[in-house]
Amino acid sequence: MTTTPAIPALDAAERLRHAGLRVTDSRRAVVAALGERPHASADELFAIVARSVPGTSLQSVYNALGDFVDAGLVRRIEPAGRPGLFELRVDDNHHHLICSQCGAVQDVDCVVGAAPCLTPSDAHGYALQAAEVTFWGVCPDCAAASAPSRADHEPAHLSRKEAP
Ligand SMILES: [Zn+2]
Ligand SMILES: [Zn+2]
Repeated sequence: MTTTPAIPALDAAERLRHAGLRVTDSRRAVVAALGERPHASADELFAIVARSVPGTSLQSVYNALGDFVDAGLVRRIEPAGRPGLFELRVDDNHHHLICSQCGAVQDVDCVVGAAPCLTPSDAHGYALQAAEVTFWGVCPDCAAASAPSRADHEPAHLSRKEAP
């Protein structure tokens, strides 16, 4: 539904500078990869970055992501039972819809806008900062793939698994 346009390399350098971070090739490549692939894991980002900056190590991608999160350039979300996912959309209080079958992640705007958008029945004296909402469900692709009406002509990726 939302197709975020790829972030050009120059923009990536600018984002780093605005966040007060030193611009390096691998950092720039990680930001650009995040522009292409919002909600990617560190491993997925490493696979993208390794193509444009071949000398990059997985550890340096982890380090860059840690620095980005600390600097407020990147948000890390940690859906239960999944690797941490990273995104550049840090300037609002949005939530996520996650497919419990394929793991596809979709941004959803917060209906309230500001954090915290939910209040607990009893805050126990805590000063509330945020309420992170993760909606779990089955995405349209997975729902279509498992629909009984499709059983007679299964998608290629399902029939491949059963091939000898
Ligand atoms: Zn799915
Ligand atoms: Zn998001």
